[in-house]
Amino acid sequence: MTDTLFYQVAVQSPLRRLFDYLPPKDASVQLPTGVRVTVPFGKREVTAIIVSSSASSDYPSDKLKPITAVLDSSPLLSPILFDVLLWAARYYHHPLGDVLASALPTSLRKGGDLPREHLWRLSTLGKGLPTNALPRAPKQQALLQLLQQHESLSKDALAAAGISTATIRNLKKKALIEDFTHTITHQLFDTDGATDILAESPLKLSDDQQKALERIELHNYHCYLIDGETGSGKTEVYLQTIARVLRYSKQALVLIPEINLSPQTLARFQARFTCPISLIHSGLSEHQRLKAWWAAASGSAGIIIGTRSAAFVPMKSPGIIIVDEEHDSSFKQHEGFRYSARDVAVMRASRENIPLLLGSATPSLESLYNCQQARYQHITIKGRHEGASQAVWQLVDIRHSQLNTGFSQTVIEAISIQLAEGNQVLVFLNRRGFAPTLMCHDCGWVARCKHCDAHLTVHTNRPGLHCHHCEARQRLSTTCPECNSQQLNYLGQGTERSEATLKALFPETEVYRVDRDSTGNKHAMEDLLSQINKNEPCILVGTQMLAKGHHFPGVTLVVVLDADTALFSTDFRALEKMGQLITQVAGRAGRGAKPGVVMIQSHHCEHPVFELLSQQSYAKFAQHVLAERQLSAMPPFTNAALIRAEFHHGGEAFGLLQSARAFLENQMSSSPALRYLGPFPAALEKRGGRYRYQLTVIASERRDIQPLLARLCQWLEQNKSARKIRWSIDVDPQENI
Ligand code: ADP
Ligand code: ZN
Ligand code: ZN
Repeated sequence: MTDTLFYQVAVQSPLRRLFDYLPPKDASVQLPTGVRVTVPFGKREVTAIIVSSSASSDYPSDKLKPITAVLDSSPLLSPILFDVLLWAARYYHHPLGDVLASALPTSLRKGGDLPREHLWRLSTLGKGLPTNALPRAPKQQALLQLLQQHESLSKDALAAAGISTATIRNLKKKALIEDFTHTITHQLFDTDGATDILAESPLKLSDDQQKALERIELHNYHCYLIDGETGSGKTEVYLQTIARVLRYSKQALVLIPEINLSPQTLARFQARFTCPISLIHSGLSEHQRLKAWWAAASGSAGIIIGTRSAAFVPMKSPGIIIVDEEHDSSFKQHEGFRYSARDVAVMRASRENIPLLLGSATPSLESLYNCQQARYQHITIKGRHEGASQAVWQLVDIRHSQLNTGFSQTVIEAISIQLAEGNQVLVFLNRRGFAPTLMCHDCGWVARCKHCDAHLTVHTNRPGLHCHHCEARQRLSTTCPECNSQQLNYLGQGTERSEATLKALFPETEVYRVDRDSTGNKHAMEDLLSQINKNEPCILVGTQMLAKGHHFPGVTLVVVLDADTALFSTDFRALEKMGQLITQVAGRAGRGAKPGVVMIQSHHCEHPVFELLSQQSYAKFAQHVLAERQLSAMPPFTNAALIRAEFHHGGEAFGLLQSARAFLENQMSSSPALRYLGPFPAALEKRGGRYRYQLTVIASERRDIQPLLARLCQWLEQNKSARKIRWSIDVDPQENI
């Protein structure tokens, strides 16, 4: 080559910049964008990805080093996906190397190979033989003939044809066959029409479902919000839409909040389709992940179902993206690369020019707002299937009432009536453990975490005091460390205490607790579900895990023990989340033939949101909360970003954010269209031994906030005191503004 070419590569590092390298020593052709290479980086050799090339570099070329090795002959990510990743790095202000890595399984990030397979074929000697060679060794002859018919076959394919390892060994000894490995090349999933893509016939759709199906255009980008209560038949609409997509040989990507919580949904996909389905989630081994990823990337999987990180899985021929339970906060990554898989899906679908379905019984305010703005199409599916009737909601005013560890008399009576009728009851309380506070009756001492600004929670199942904000655990003492009194009181209640109370009140009835502590091991949840599905009278008590994925047809009464916490939260999303959670929990019940009752205990029954929710109108509730957001100029009417800083010495973290604010104001002074709030202490000021602060930027226009944050990032990266302080930028934060 005469003119020198420079490559800009992305390396996994905390730095938000690219690095220049010279072409590899033996380069003869230009390397395309997206190819993995190894480069010397400091004292190490690391895997990097080529992002661009140029004819000049800001660095003198004698200071630059050449690329050591080229790992791929063609890029692993399509140009469109690569573009989406570039967008995500810019939008979330996260280092590109890290963002690109999120689209690759760990082994590929580290420079590993695509999945390879071991194949057998005829050697040159073998190719010279006639079909009737080896007449006295019929098994060997069979193998010979097989390989005369097929260019190469894997060991598994040979075994399936009845060829033993011994036969293979014998022909190899005669040098008639040889083995080799190569990257597995998949066929696209079978769409030749010979096999039907459906393994079972689809259900006959209701009018609403049919209308939904007909509205979904498959050949260009549109975002559809599929809004229908739990059980209204959204999943059936997904299934039938996917069938149409598969018929023209395109793949479907389905994002769900948590794989373990939706075995029923998975089973329905598997029962419906004949094509391979790839599952991508955090529970996979590295090898399984690579295989699932490659099945998606190479196109052999017709359907890819995955959690958050699957938003970036490459697809050979993408045809549709579906985000189920789009309101779920698990789609937002809360550390490192703080992306929202739902929002990435929107960008990806629009760049790919394919449809996107967002489904929920309790759509996020963002998505409802986007419908109002005509950016999304709102498709409502009404009515439940299975002949279930609507639940009746009842607000239970607990002011002045005697509570039995959290249970009002009204609720206790309602539970006993349902049990007597052979029904099941679900009690919802979003707090794990036995009691959130341990206090000394004599001196007022309270058990606190040494590392956080928080009380320790009393646990009795694995007895001890646990901090729910860091890993800290302590022994559960029986005497006060301050005054040696034995009078230690448990204040408030968590699921363990409610479980104990219910067991005491209803000694004849099985009580099952469902929370992160009780479902720790893999099969615990499945075991619990199979117990519950026996449909014998029982009580389920648990946290928000009960609001996700499962259906409990035998449950006729849902009790929400404490609905008040969210009313007084400083988090502006608390109310929205509470409404979603209560509606979701309520929707799990009464799906059988029996009607359901939902009882909500509150000290504030007159609060308008309870009124709206109890009219069973999440839609009206959402309108109310949206109107409040508009009044206070909060998202989705504005765009927010949080700049967080944490450090062992609070003053320094706070100081950094003060200078950050000064820097920002200098760039663009505050106005009604651009507000700076803080720095303020985080909701939990001290956590895990670090003091945490945050600065909020709220802008009417997204185009104002993005360049501002980009400059702030540069400033923070160059700021000396920022080097030791842990800081981050969270665009469209989901919590604690
Ligand atoms: P959602 O995803 O909205 O919760 P599903 O699609 O899971 O709703 O449907 C709820 C239940 O109703 C499922 O058991 C499903 O098999 C059944 N169902 C859905 N659509 C129909 C239909 N058109 N005809 C009969 N049963 C249906
Ligand atoms: Zn004491
Ligand atoms: Zn702690």
